[in-house]
Amino acid sequence: MRKALIIGGGIGGTATSRTAPSASAYGAAHSRRLYLVRESGETCWFANLHRSDEPTRKELAAIPTAQWQRQLRDLFADDLPVINEIVTDSVGDVGAHLVYDIPTSPVWHRGPALLIGDAVHATSPSAGQGVSMAVEDAVILARCLRDAPDTNAASTAYEQLRRPRVERVVAYSKTLSNSKTAGPVARVLRDLMMPIALKLFAGPKSHSWMYTHHIDWNEKVAMHVA
Ligand SMILES: Cc1cc2nc3c(=O)[nH]c(=O)nc-3n(C[C@H](O)[C@H](O)[C@H](O)COP(=O)(O)OP(=O)(O)OC[C@H]3O[C@@H](n4cnc5c(N)ncnc54)[C@H](O)[C@@H]3O)c2cc1C
Repeated sequence: MRKALIIGGGIGGTATSRTAPSASAYGAAHSRRLYLVRESGETCWFANLHRSDEPTRKELAAIPTAQWQRQLRDLFADDLPVINEIVTDSVGDVGAHLVYDIPTSPVWHRGPALLIGDAVHATSPSAGQGVSMAVEDAVILARCLRDAPDTNAASTAYEQLRRPRVERVVAYSKTLSNSKTAGPVARVLRDLMMPIALKLFAGPKSHSWMYTHHIDWNEKVAMHVA
Protein backbone atom coordinates (compact mmCIF):
# COMPACT_ATOMS: atom_id res chain seq x y z
CA MET A 1 0.00 0.00 0.00
CA ARG A 2 1.45 3.34 -0.99
CA LYS A 3 1.01 6.56 0.88
CA ALA A 4 0.95 10.19 -0.08
CA LEU A 5 0.57 13.26 2.02
CA ILE A 6 -2.41 15.48 1.41
CA ILE A 7 -2.20 19.01 2.70
CA GLY A 8 -5.24 21.15 2.62
CA GLY A 9 -6.44 24.51 3.73
CA GLY A 10 -8.89 27.21 3.08
CA ILE A 11 -9.06 30.90 2.61
CA GLY A 12 -12.24 32.46 3.78
CA GLY A 13 -13.91 35.82 3.42
CA THR A 14 -14.16 38.38 0.71
CA ALA A 15 -10.84 40.06 1.51
CA THR A 16 -9.01 37.24 -0.21
CA SER A 17 -11.58 36.53 -2.89
CA ARG A 18 -10.33 35.71 -6.32
CA THR A 19 -11.80 34.38 -9.49
CA ALA A 20 -10.51 31.15 -10.89
CA PRO A 21 -9.44 30.96 -14.51
CA SER A 22 -12.52 30.24 -16.63
CA ALA A 23 -14.21 27.94 -14.14
CA SER A 24 -14.65 27.65 -10.42
CA ALA A 25 -12.10 24.89 -10.05
CA TYR A 26 -8.51 25.01 -11.15
CA GLY A 27 -5.60 22.66 -10.85
CA ALA A 28 -7.42 19.72 -12.24
CA ALA A 29 -6.50 16.22 -13.03
CA HIS A 30 -2.83 15.37 -13.59
CA SER A 31 -1.91 17.99 -11.05
CA ARG A 32 -0.42 17.91 -7.59
CA ARG A 33 -2.45 20.82 -6.32
CA LEU A 34 -5.98 21.97 -6.77
CA TYR A 35 -8.01 24.95 -5.70
CA LEU A 36 -11.64 25.72 -5.80
CA VAL A 37 -13.19 29.18 -5.59
CA ARG A 38 -16.72 29.29 -4.23
CA GLU A 39 -19.23 31.94 -5.31
CA SER A 40 -18.64 33.67 -1.98
CA GLY A 41 -14.97 34.12 -2.90
CA GLU A 42 -13.88 31.55 -0.35
CA THR A 43 -11.03 29.42 -1.67
CA CYS A 44 -10.32 25.83 -0.69
CA TRP A 45 -7.19 24.05 -1.83
CA PHE A 46 -5.11 20.96 -1.41
CA ALA A 47 -1.65 19.84 -2.43
CA ASN A 48 -0.47 16.29 -2.86
CA LEU A 49 3.09 15.69 -1.63
CA HIS A 50 5.01 12.51 -2.11
CA ARG A 51 6.56 11.17 1.13
CA SER A 52 8.64 8.10 1.74
CA ASP A 53 8.28 8.08 5.53
CA GLU A 54 5.08 7.60 7.49
CA PRO A 55 4.59 10.28 10.14
CA THR A 56 1.91 9.70 12.76
CA ARG A 57 -1.13 11.98 13.02
CA LYS A 58 0.40 13.49 16.14
CA GLU A 59 3.67 14.26 14.33
CA LEU A 60 1.81 15.85 11.43
CA ALA A 61 -0.37 17.92 13.76
CA ALA A 62 2.77 19.26 15.48
CA ILE A 63 4.09 20.82 12.26
CA PRO A 64 3.23 24.54 12.31
CA THR A 65 1.22 26.02 9.45
CA ALA A 66 4.06 28.45 8.66
CA GLN A 67 6.38 25.48 8.03
CA TRP A 68 3.91 23.89 5.60
CA GLN A 69 3.52 27.22 3.85
CA ARG A 70 7.30 27.58 3.45
CA GLN A 71 7.59 24.05 2.07
CA LEU A 72 4.72 24.55 -0.36
CA ARG A 73 6.02 27.91 -1.56
CA ASP A 74 9.39 26.26 -2.34
CA LEU A 75 7.71 23.33 -4.04
CA PHE A 76 5.50 25.49 -6.23
CA ALA A 77 7.97 28.37 -6.69
CA ASP A 78 7.79 28.07 -10.46
CA ASP A 79 4.10 27.39 -10.63
CA LEU A 80 1.41 29.96 -11.44
CA PRO A 81 1.72 32.98 -9.12
CA VAL A 82 -1.81 32.40 -7.85
CA ILE A 83 -0.74 29.10 -6.26
CA ASN A 84 1.78 30.80 -4.01
CA GLU A 85 -0.70 33.58 -3.23
CA ILE A 86 -3.25 31.04 -2.08
CA VAL A 87 -0.76 29.25 0.15
CA THR A 88 0.43 32.53 1.64
CA ASP A 89 -3.07 33.94 2.17
CA SER A 90 -4.43 30.85 3.90
CA VAL A 91 -6.08 31.53 7.20
CA GLY A 92 -6.34 29.10 10.09
CA ASP A 93 -4.49 25.84 10.42
CA VAL A 94 -3.37 23.84 7.44
CA GLY A 95 -4.41 20.22 7.83
CA ALA A 96 -2.09 17.40 6.73
CA HIS A 97 -3.20 13.80 6.37
CA LEU A 98 -1.70 10.65 4.93
CA VAL A 99 -3.73 9.02 2.20
CA TYR A 100 -3.22 5.47 0.98
CA ASP A 101 -4.03 3.75 -2.23
CA ILE A 102 -4.93 0.08 -2.46
CA PRO A 103 -3.34 -1.22 -5.68
CA THR A 104 -4.98 -4.60 -5.40
CA SER A 105 -7.20 -6.39 -2.95
CA PRO A 106 -7.30 -10.19 -3.14
CA VAL A 107 -10.85 -10.53 -1.83
CA TRP A 108 -13.73 -8.38 -3.11
CA HIS A 109 -16.62 -10.42 -1.77
CA ARG A 110 -17.32 -13.28 0.58
CA GLY A 111 -20.70 -14.83 1.26
CA PRO A 112 -23.31 -12.10 1.36
CA ALA A 113 -20.70 -9.31 1.86
CA LEU A 114 -19.28 -7.33 -1.06
CA LEU A 115 -17.11 -4.22 -1.23
CA ILE A 116 -17.38 -1.29 -3.61
CA GLY A 117 -15.69 2.10 -3.92
CA ASP A 118 -12.79 3.14 -1.71
CA ALA A 119 -13.41 0.18 0.59
CA VAL A 120 -11.89 -2.11 -2.04
CA HIS A 121 -9.80 0.15 -4.30
CA ALA A 122 -8.99 3.46 -2.61
CA THR A 123 -6.93 5.62 -4.92
CA SER A 124 -4.90 8.74 -4.41
CA PRO A 125 -6.80 11.85 -5.51
CA SER A 126 -4.19 12.73 -8.16
CA ALA A 127 -6.25 11.43 -11.08
CA GLY A 128 -9.52 12.74 -9.65
CA GLN A 129 -11.26 9.42 -10.34
CA GLY A 130 -12.27 8.05 -6.92
CA VAL A 131 -15.90 9.18 -7.08
CA SER A 132 -16.32 8.03 -10.69
CA MET A 133 -14.95 4.60 -9.78
CA ALA A 134 -17.36 4.29 -6.86
CA VAL A 135 -20.35 5.31 -9.01
CA GLU A 136 -19.32 2.97 -11.83
CA ASP A 137 -19.06 0.15 -9.27
CA ALA A 138 -22.61 0.84 -8.11
CA VAL A 139 -24.01 0.84 -11.66
CA ILE A 140 -22.19 -2.34 -12.66
CA LEU A 141 -23.22 -4.06 -9.44
CA ALA A 142 -26.85 -3.12 -10.10
CA ARG A 143 -26.61 -4.65 -13.60
CA CYS A 144 -25.07 -7.82 -12.18
CA LEU A 145 -27.75 -8.15 -9.50
CA ARG A 146 -30.40 -7.62 -12.16
CA ASP A 147 -29.04 -10.25 -14.57
CA ALA A 148 -27.41 -12.92 -12.38
CA PRO A 149 -29.34 -15.95 -11.16
CA ASP A 150 -28.16 -15.41 -7.56
CA THR A 151 -26.08 -12.98 -5.46
CA ASN A 152 -22.98 -15.17 -5.59
CA ALA A 153 -22.97 -15.16 -9.39
CA ALA A 154 -23.66 -11.40 -9.31
CA SER A 155 -20.64 -10.80 -7.01
CA THR A 156 -18.35 -12.87 -9.23
CA ALA A 157 -19.51 -11.09 -12.39
CA TYR A 158 -19.13 -7.69 -10.71
CA GLU A 159 -15.53 -8.40 -9.73
CA GLN A 160 -14.68 -9.74 -13.19
CA LEU A 161 -16.09 -6.64 -14.84
CA ARG A 162 -14.59 -4.07 -12.46
CA ARG A 163 -11.20 -5.32 -11.27
CA PRO A 164 -9.10 -4.69 -14.42
CA ARG A 165 -10.39 -1.13 -14.85
CA VAL A 166 -10.12 0.04 -11.26
CA GLU A 167 -6.66 -1.44 -10.82
CA ARG A 168 -5.53 0.37 -13.96
CA VAL A 169 -6.91 3.67 -12.63
CA VAL A 170 -5.27 3.18 -9.20
CA ALA A 171 -1.94 2.41 -10.88
CA TYR A 172 -2.25 5.48 -13.11
CA SER A 173 -3.11 7.74 -10.17
CA LYS A 174 -0.15 6.35 -8.27
CA THR A 175 2.25 7.32 -11.07
CA LEU A 176 0.89 10.87 -10.90
CA SER A 177 1.30 11.04 -7.12
CA ASN A 178 4.84 9.70 -7.29
CA SER A 179 5.99 12.18 -9.88
CA LYS A 180 8.32 14.64 -8.25
CA THR A 181 8.11 18.35 -8.86
CA ALA A 182 10.77 19.11 -11.44
CA GLY A 183 14.04 20.70 -10.34
CA PRO A 184 15.76 23.45 -12.37
CA VAL A 185 17.56 21.10 -14.83
CA ALA A 186 14.56 18.82 -15.16
CA ARG A 187 12.37 21.85 -15.84
CA VAL A 188 14.54 22.96 -18.78
CA LEU A 189 14.52 19.43 -20.23
CA ARG A 190 10.79 19.10 -19.62
CA ASP A 191 10.05 22.38 -21.38
CA LEU A 192 12.18 21.33 -24.37
CA MET A 193 10.59 17.89 -24.63
CA MET A 194 7.01 18.84 -23.83
CA PRO A 195 5.93 20.06 -27.31
CA ILE A 196 7.25 16.85 -28.88
CA ALA A 197 5.72 14.64 -26.18
CA LEU A 198 2.37 16.40 -26.43
CA LYS A 199 2.30 15.89 -30.18
CA LEU A 200 3.12 12.22 -29.83
CA PHE A 201 1.15 11.17 -26.77
CA ALA A 202 -1.37 13.76 -25.66
CA GLY A 203 -3.98 13.52 -28.37
CA PRO A 204 -7.62 13.64 -27.36
CA LYS A 205 -7.61 9.85 -27.21
CA SER A 206 -4.63 9.38 -24.87
CA HIS A 207 -6.75 9.28 -21.71
CA SER A 208 -10.06 8.36 -23.27
CA TRP A 209 -9.87 4.89 -21.67
CA MET A 210 -10.31 6.68 -18.35
CA TYR A 211 -12.46 9.72 -19.07
CA THR A 212 -14.91 8.46 -21.69
CA HIS A 213 -15.68 5.07 -20.21
CA HIS A 214 -19.19 4.06 -21.23
CA ILE A 215 -21.47 1.63 -19.44
CA ASP A 216 -24.41 0.30 -21.41
CA TRP A 217 -27.13 -0.09 -18.81
CA ASN A 218 -29.36 -2.17 -21.13
CA GLU A 219 -26.66 -4.67 -22.07
CA LYS A 220 -27.22 -8.00 -20.36
CA VAL A 221 -24.29 -9.12 -18.20
CA ALA A 222 -22.68 -12.30 -19.50
CA MET A 223 -22.06 -14.87 -16.77
CA HIS A 224 -18.72 -16.70 -16.96
CA VAL A 225 -18.45 -19.86 -14.91
CA ALA A 226 -15.08 -19.89 -13.12
C1 LIG B 1 -8.18 15.03 -0.41
C2 LIG B 1 -8.97 14.19 -1.36
C3 LIG B 1 -9.34 14.72 -2.58
C4 LIG B 1 -10.09 13.96 -3.47
N1 LIG B 1 -10.43 14.50 -4.67
C5 LIG B 1 -11.16 13.78 -5.53
C6 LIG B 1 -11.56 14.35 -6.79
O1 LIG B 1 -11.23 15.49 -7.13
N2 LIG B 1 -12.31 13.58 -7.62
C7 LIG B 1 -12.70 12.31 -7.29
O2 LIG B 1 -13.39 11.66 -8.08
N3 LIG B 1 -12.32 11.76 -6.12
C8 LIG B 1 -11.57 12.46 -5.22
N4 LIG B 1 -11.20 11.89 -4.04
C9 LIG B 1 -11.57 10.48 -3.76
C10 LIG B 1 -13.03 10.35 -3.38
O3 LIG B 1 -13.32 11.21 -2.30
C11 LIG B 1 -13.31 8.90 -2.97
O4 LIG B 1 -12.79 8.01 -3.93
C12 LIG B 1 -14.82 8.66 -2.88
O5 LIG B 1 -15.37 9.51 -1.87
C13 LIG B 1 -15.11 7.20 -2.52
O6 LIG B 1 -16.49 7.05 -2.30
P1 LIG B 1 -17.00 5.89 -1.38
O7 LIG B 1 -18.50 6.02 -1.38
O8 LIG B 1 -16.42 4.58 -1.83
O9 LIG B 1 -16.40 6.13 0.06
P2 LIG B 1 -16.63 7.37 1.04
O10 LIG B 1 -16.91 8.63 0.28
O11 LIG B 1 -15.47 7.33 1.98
O12 LIG B 1 -17.98 6.99 1.79
C14 LIG B 1 -18.00 6.03 2.81
C15 LIG B 1 -19.00 6.51 3.85
O13 LIG B 1 -19.21 5.46 4.81
C16 LIG B 1 -19.24 6.02 6.09
N5 LIG B 1 -18.92 4.97 7.05
C17 LIG B 1 -17.71 4.44 7.36
N6 LIG B 1 -17.84 3.48 8.30
C18 LIG B 1 -19.15 3.40 8.57
C19 LIG B 1 -19.91 2.58 9.45
N7 LIG B 1 -19.33 1.66 10.23
N8 LIG B 1 -21.25 2.77 9.51
C20 LIG B 1 -21.86 3.68 8.70
N9 LIG B 1 -21.18 4.48 7.83
C21 LIG B 1 -19.84 4.34 7.77
C22 LIG B 1 -18.21 7.14 6.04
O14 LIG B 1 -18.45 8.09 7.05
C23 LIG B 1 -18.47 7.70 4.64
O15 LIG B 1 -19.47 8.70 4.65
C24 LIG B 1 -10.46 12.63 -3.13
C25 LIG B 1 -10.09 12.09 -1.89
C26 LIG B 1 -9.34 12.86 -1.02
C27 LIG B 1 -8.95 12.26 0.31
